[in-house]
Amino acid sequence: MPRGDGTGPIGQGRGGGRGMGRAAGIGRGRMGGSFAAGPGGNCVCPKCGMKTPHVAGQPCTAKTCPECGTRMTRE
Ligand SMILES: [Zn+2]
Repeated sequence: MPRGDGTGPIGQGRGGGRGMGRAAGIGRGRMGGSFAAGPGGNCVCPKCGMKTPHVAGQPCTAKTCPECGTRMTRE
């Protein structure tokens, strides 16, 4: 059980893993217009009907409508 030591190597392993995950997320960011209906579909504002492309890893309920500020929902 090498983990019992709790020294350098473990911390490094963790940091690397996180860094990779972050980089992947950034690389995936798409600058598609309102046309881009990615694999995740769209988020829609229940109040005014504004739609924005859903971003993987970002739940629609965590976003707010750019038009009226209402919380978005999954289309
Ligand atoms: Zn709205």
